[in-house]
Amino acid sequence: MAKSKGEIVIDEQYCKGCEYCIEFCPKDCITLGDKFSAQGYQIPVFVNKENCSACMICAKMCPESAIEVYKYI
Ligand code: SF4
Ligand code: SF4
Repeated sequence: MAKSKGEIVIDEQYCKGCEYCIEFCPKDCITLGDKFSAQGYQIPVFVNKENCSACMICAKMCPESAIEVYKYI
């Protein structure tokens, strides 16, 4: 398995379920999960972790600044 270069954390407190992060991740690392936030939004989850390049596109596209990206060095 390829070594992951990055990891993201989505803060469900701020996520509004717009799915921009899912749409724009070039590595298909984000998908809708089963869980709903306290505000009733369906929260995305981080998948295909080994493919994440820590490019930060998801964080830049998120209108709620709900995503933190961690880059492994
Ligand atoms: S950092 Fe890049 S590759 Fe990783 S989940 Fe976000 S958009 Fe996808
Ligand atoms: S872009 Fe941000 S607000 Fe929209 S679904 Fe993703 S984490 Fe939630």
